Amino acid sequence: MNTDLVQGYEVVIGFETHAQLSTQSKIFSRAPIAFGAEPNTQACAVDLALPGTLPVMNKGAVERAIQLGLALGSHIAPRSVFARKNYFYPDLPKGYQISQFEIPMVQGGEVSFFLNDEKKTVRLVRAHLEEDAGKSLHEDFVGMTGIDLNRAGTPLLEIVTEPDMRSSEEAVAYAKELHKIVTWIGICDGNMQEGSFRCDANVSVRKPGAALGTRHEIKNLNSFKFMQQAIDYEVRWQIDQIEDGHAIQQATVLFDPDTGETRAMRTKEDAADYRYFPDPDLPPLVIDDAWIARVRSEMRELPRVMAERFVRDYGLPEYDAATLTQSQEMAAYFEAVAKACGQAKLASNWIMGDLSRRLNAQELAFEQMPIKADALALLIQRIQDGTISNNAGKQVLDAMWGEAGDVDTIIGSKGLKQMNDTGALEAIVNDVIAANADNVAQFRAGKEKAFNALVGQVMKASKGKANPQQVNDLLKKKLS
Ligand code: ADP
Ligand code: MG
Repeated sequence: MNTDLVQGYEVVIGFETHAQLSTQSKIFSRAPIAFGAEPNTQACAVDLALPGTLPVMNKGAVERAIQLGLALGSHIAPRSVFARKNYFYPDLPKGYQISQFEIPMVQGGEVSFFLNDEKKTVRLVRAHLEEDAGKSLHEDFVGMTGIDLNRAGTPLLEIVTEPDMRSSEEAVAYAKELHKIVTWIGICDGNMQEGSFRCDANVSVRKPGAALGTRHEIKNLNSFKFMQQAIDYEVRWQIDQIEDGHAIQQATVLFDPDTGETRAMRTKEDAADYRYFPDPDLPPLVIDDAWIARVRSEMRELPRVMAERFVRDYGLPEYDAATLTQSQEMAAYFEAVAKACGQAKLASNWIMGDLSRRLNAQELAFEQMPIKADALALLIQRIQDGTISNNAGKQVLDAMWGEAGDVDTIIGSKGLKQMNDTGALEAIVNDVIAANADNVAQFRAGKEKAFNALVGQVMKASKGKANPQQVNDLLKKKLS
């Protein structure tokens, strides 16, 4: 599905993402948060909600939230407030979750990305700090449910967007961009299988120009593939309901990857159901400018800032710059190649084109790139100085990928050196013109195709070693 209408309906999507912050310890206690420990070995008295315990704010969690705010151009509230969100569930021993409600720490901001060459911007409402709950274990027990409180008190940043997205593709592109940013700045490990980055997708449909439709909230999407499937299913389901004359009821739904369907979990509760009120155990969170300035000074260059620099310093199109800053490894590789060969746009073309295609085909991460930056730089130089043709360059790349040696050795051993002897080339061109009288006549009668056929003949006769530009020029000269 694309930004176009689906059966005459406009799709509207807003995201709530829980990013688990990569601190050592929990948000309000000193218990560790490492993944995969034996149940209940990482829950201390505070996490167990024993009487008399008090929460203490983890500074590391606050600083990670500041980093996200700086990365997304948000306002960082000088004073924000923790609230109690009250509900009963066995994995929540306190009977409430500590979260931020009326005054969140991070306010506004935006996430921009490219979708099929088109720049999109999704506005953020807020990002607030909160604690995770524990976990109910149903699998290992017959007729009983176990409770694991290791996860209770794990620091989360909930990042909420405006309902700005208009297709499942756009939603997935947003989620990928946000995932890139939190892992780039290092506030979250981004491990989706382990639940470190999980998205709730709010989905509704409407006729163009109508008021917002009633939404379903699809909970806990922890893979980009499921995200797309779940939203596509919801959109079809909601349209079917409306077309059949049924109103959509606001609800929370779960996606089942086995059936590819969503199903209702509960009707949605209102904020009022949670009886939010400021937590008297925690003072307001006060963040001054000096603190923000210090955090900013410790952050690495942001992807969007780096992309702007690539446009400014290397003259790259915005799209290239955005693509090359998908990961730090890719960006660093590009810079190394561009600096070594002095041909930034060609470096970008090779990296975004042939290299990425090969990595994708073999499902390799960029870190596993078998070709060193200086080797690609040399290859680009050999094409630029006319030693080999662009096509021969692809053969050299193939060979290098298979670790057949360095650029010059491969050019030599495969006999790929371009023909730079104009005399020899002229002889071939003369032969081809003589042997293809009908093509020559057609070209003179105005058929461009006939000219390309002649170029092809010359390239073939030279075994691909002629410089195509030279062939073009020479043929034009002889035929005019
Ligand atoms: P709640 O308080 O129930 O969580 P919010 O107003 O905070 O509701 O919105 C939660 C998310 O749902 C936000 O990302 C918002 O953009 C999105 N959203 C709100 N209304 C709609 C709608 N009609 N269709 C799709 N998404 C919506
Ligand atoms: Mg919400």
